[in-house]
Amino acid sequence: MNTEEYIDTLPKKAARLRADGTYTVLPMMHHGKLDANRLSLISRVVADNSLPGIRITAGQQVLIDGVPADRLKSVIEALGEVGLAYKHKAQGCLGTDGCKLGQQNSRAAAERLSELLDTYDMPCKVKAGVSGCPMCCAESMARDVGLYGKKGGWTVSFGGNAGKRVRCGDILGENLSEDEAFELIAKALSFYAENAKKKERTARFVERVGLDALKSAVLTAD
Ligand code: SF4
Repeated sequence: MNTEEYIDTLPKKAARLRADGTYTVLPMMHHGKLDANRLSLISRVVADNSLPGIRITAGQQVLIDGVPADRLKSVIEALGEVGLAYKHKAQGCLGTDGCKLGQQNSRAAAERLSELLDTYDMPCKVKAGVSGCPMCCAESMARDVGLYGKKGGWTVSFGGNAGKRVRCGDILGENLSEDEAFELIAKALSFYAENAKKKERTARFVERVGLDALKSAVLTAD
């Protein structure tokens, strides 16, 4: 088996070829959290293999750079779990888990949202951001699915996008309990998964079908 065939057997984004012919390796992380044992294991693997270093990606992931092809397999085996923990990961800020402004538990909601997203067969990639307060540090309003917390509950947005055609998500509900927010998100995702064209992001989908159609689907669906 050559290196590319080996990479195909790994979870998504576990290893990627760089322009200089070496590979990046992504140790698996769950919502930006690493305990001391995992952190020291990663550090030991980097030191033992004289690798150039570690960096943090925009998606809150630790990434090991510069792994030579002939050490890729042994580095990955030493790390154990590698690649993305979820197909469609929801980014979450600290929220009530550590931010003094947090009004809702955004970390727990982000984990729940990642699990929900992975139950769908989506027509295109879906990004999600969960913020513990209206400051929206997890960029909730510029994500396909956005949640942010206030004292009275969660606000849900849908159809946001960053990138070159920026779109602010449309608010589908406010002051919702977590269960109510997830019920609304599930309905919006079902409507999107069933009606979007292949490779159509939620922002373009909402522009094409219209906000009224989306709202009527999510507010009337069972
Ligand atoms: S969105 Fe609010 S709770 Fe989350 S990190 Fe930013 S300020 Fe803190």
